[in-house]
Amino acid sequence: MEGHGFVLCPLCGERIGVYEPMIVITPYGARRTSRAREPLLPQSGAILLHDGCYGIEPYERGENG
Ligand SMILES: [Zn+2]
Repeated sequence: MEGHGFVLCPLCGERIGVYEPMIVITPYGARRTSRAREPLLPQSGAILLHDGCYGIEPYERGENG
């Protein structure tokens, strides 16, 4: 059932659907896109995250207040 070219989100370990909003991390910054819009991104070596997972950033774990 696992087709070639699927993408796993490194934060939650789940697949990123073709039409799901996702975040791509590039040397120029992060931006929102989708695999449907940019099907070659997974092959480019870029870091791809779910749009929702991107909010969970290391800097979020600051003071617990
Ligand atoms: Zn995720």
